[in-house]
Amino acid sequence: MLGIETSCDETGIGIVRGRTLLSNTIASSMDEHARYGGVVPEVAARAHLEALQPTIEAALAEAQVTLADIDAVAVTSGPGLAGALMVGVGAAKALAVSLDKPLYAVNHLVGHIAADILTGEEVEYPTVALLVSGGHTSLLLVRDLVSDVELLGETMDDAAGEAFDKIARILGLPYPGGPEIDRAAATGDPNAIRFPRGMSRASDMAEHRYDFSFSGLKTAVARFVEQHEATGETLSVPDVAASFREAVVDVLVTKALDACARHGVPRLLLGGGVIANKRLRDVALERAEAAGVAVRIPPLSLCTDNGAMIAALASELIMSGHPASTLAFGADSTLPVTTIQVATSS
Ligand code: ATP
Ligand code: MG
Ligand code: FE
Repeated sequence: MLGIETSCDETGIGIVRGRTLLSNTIASSMDEHARYGGVVPEVAARAHLEALQPTIEAALAEAQVTLADIDAVAVTSGPGLAGALMVGVGAAKALAVSLDKPLYAVNHLVGHIAADILTGEEVEYPTVALLVSGGHTSLLLVRDLVSDVELLGETMDDAAGEAFDKIARILGLPYPGGPEIDRAAATGDPNAIRFPRGMSRASDMAEHRYDFSFSGLKTAVARFVEQHEATGETLSVPDVAASFREAVVDVLVTKALDACARHGVPRLLLGGGVIANKRLRDVALERAEAAGVAVRIPPLSLCTDNGAMIAALASELIMSGHPASTLAFGADSTLPVTTIQVATSS
């Protein structure tokens, strides 16, 4: 199964055989977006068009197979950037038709959950999944990967990674902001400033399902920095970075573990590029252990956007008897997580 992922700024091609990972090749246009301080959709789409062919070739070479060995093709149909998705969808259809092989068009977010299967360890459901990246902050309840994924909550404004990127900009640090904030936070005091934890009271969780909001936190940090600039008071960038990071991590972990408790699910899967944050992993592991919840964190190469996870999801669909997608689908930038596969014939 060859999987194609182009929902954001990574051109990802992955090849799997059943649950075995054969290759996972990624070309990122991240550097091209750096000077804009965020992903520019038009730039991303153009970069996918240029990167697809060489990335497919690299993935085939890495897997030591040729196109003739490919039995099926998988592609991300959504959610993501429409123009970026369209490039992958077009390429996947062309490949499937020319090879005369079945095509599976699947959901990007569910792909993130499927990545865990490629670790080779036994994966158990139900599990709660927390997906945090530059484009999404989603809390999901996965009862069955191929048939039952429920959205518990998502961000009402900025994604968690986006919040890192915006705060980095406020602090004068380059893009992407996550690693920069992390570096600055290393020498800071996480308790120096008590920044707001949006929508994380028990009553919020009951009323708003498990949605997130990071805009209040962003405003609070911006105001804190402005006030210091206005009064000329020295600003400790490490303290601001560490306190901001602590607020984000606190909200994410609190809500994820509350969801585990409420649904009686003793498992939590973490995914998305923000999982690169060691503080997030440490706090999640520490508090989960205390709560009797087992945490799974796939390697970062499977946590960030990649084609292998898309191939893995399609592979599970095949193995559980789901028929291929028809060609009657396009890019769906707002595809809901409950739609695991699109253009199903039955
Ligand atoms: P998508 O949302 O479609 O998955 P994306 O490209 O925006 O796509 P990723 O590539 O998974 O997301 O992750 C990039 C994001 O992760 C950026 O916002 C970046 O700042 C953030 N990030 C990376 N490293 C860290 C870190 N150490 N701490 C916090 N955030 C981080
Ligand atoms: Mg990315
Ligand atoms: Fe993603």
